[in-house]
Amino acid sequence: MRAFRPVPRELQARLRAAYPDARCALDHRDPFQLVVATILSAQCTDARVNLTTPALFARFPDAASLAAARTEELEGLIKSTGFFRNKAKNLIGLGQALMAKHGGRVPSDPTELGALPGVGQKTANVVLANAFGVPALAVDTHIFRVARRLGLSKATTPEKVEADLCRLFPREDWIELHHQLIFHGRRTCDARRPACAACPLLDLCPTGLGQIKDPHLGVKLTAVPRGDTPRPAGARGNLASEASRRSPRSVSGPQRIVSLVPSVTELLVQWGLAAQLVGRTRYCIEPRWIRNTVPAVGGTKNPDLDCIRDLAPDLVILERDENPKEVAEALTALGIPWLALEIRTVKDCVRALRQLGERLGAVEAAEARASALETTLKGRRRRGLRTLALIWKDPWMSAGPDTYVGDLLRSGGLVPLGPDRYPSLTDDDLAALAPELILLPTEPYHFNRRHQAELQKRFPGAEVRVVDGQALTWYLSRTEQGLDLVQSFR
Ligand code: SF4
Repeated sequence: MRAFRPVPRELQARLRAAYPDARCALDHRDPFQLVVATILSAQCTDARVNLTTPALFARFPDAASLAAARTEELEGLIKSTGFFRNKAKNLIGLGQALMAKHGGRVPSDPTELGALPGVGQKTANVVLANAFGVPALAVDTHIFRVARRLGLSKATTPEKVEADLCRLFPREDWIELHHQLIFHGRRTCDARRPACAACPLLDLCPTGLGQIKDPHLGVKLTAVPRGDTPRPAGARGNLASEASRRSPRSVSGPQRIVSLVPSVTELLVQWGLAAQLVGRTRYCIEPRWIRNTVPAVGGTKNPDLDCIRDLAPDLVILERDENPKEVAEALTALGIPWLALEIRTVKDCVRALRQLGERLGAVEAAEARASALETTLKGRRRRGLRTLALIWKDPWMSAGPDTYVGDLLRSGGLVPLGPDRYPSLTDDDLAALAPELILLPTEPYHFNRRHQAELQKRFPGAEVRVVDGQALTWYLSRTEQGLDLVQSFR
């Protein structure tokens, strides 16, 4: 087969003909309105932002009024765009920074623009291009997907895709191309169901022609002859059959899973469900190779919902402590099924293993693990070192008795100390707790020998130990390992 070569000029001509109306989809009258609307559009649709901004701009028409906004009032006006607390904080910070440093005007200098609260490189590029006409090519989720499908880039980060596109296309066309590729992604090259049969770029597209695997869905699309009835990309049928070839055991369970919980990601791999895993957070780093094979969708607290939506999952797995409830609400709004675990005790792990086994079509693997854990728990005896599990420094924070870590300590024969949940503690608080054993896990804070020596000096009568953070805090995939660790201190 002839090696594929992108043909930028021909692509541009066809995109121009197909999307003569391509333009910025965020309603705005000036740079101030555009930067605000772009901040609001993070993890939200442009249409919803356009419904929100008229009332917002009527109340806060400029940087001065935004700088003086009351947080609660602003939050109320932008609530429907999701992640409203963080966005409100950024918008007030934006107003204040514009007033303090730029006389209330939005700067057109890329560095100054990028330094404003809530304005990253993508937002800066959108504002530069659409408000000031500065050539820029912000790569959003649509452009990232379309560029890779068209073979214009093989890169795996938006920044590198942007660099590839900027190399391929003339600078004067970047703004127009930005809008055209977004329109193409929205109207034709859908994340899950690209309408290849109706696509004006089909004969230029290695993915649509079936020459390469779809870099987005990870499977080869069936080449669709022009003139066929446009059908949902053939992707659904292809995906199901591809997935069932890869993992016949779990055809009854979800086939496209996004895990927002690091230890659950590891558990899925342990259960042989790696092929069904299509997304993970950047903290899902075990097993290590997962970082090269499954795309990251942001962090546990602020996953990128656009990215998740584009992965077209049929299940997203959450945990109530690990992921904010706004994430579940946003998934519901997007029509994406989710499952939220709640794990505060080791017994919750037994329940969660069975719950996951049922839902994922992995009942046997789950039952084996759950029964073994139940048996292990029956044999444990409470004994007694008064134990403080620290999880952070500056300020000190501990995992309290009512957390998973607290219950792991109790189940392994120790007495967990401190207030409930994850309290901050002063030096006096630590002394008042009079621990006999202090555990310093290697995550989430990277405690090390230096911290151990420091605390040992302060608590000469206690045993202070640096311990494997994953064993102590990763429930489900490492609970047995955690119990063994804790038991070694009895
Ligand atoms: S042929 Fe299919 S995959 Fe390629 S750009 Fe068109 S819709 Fe997207």
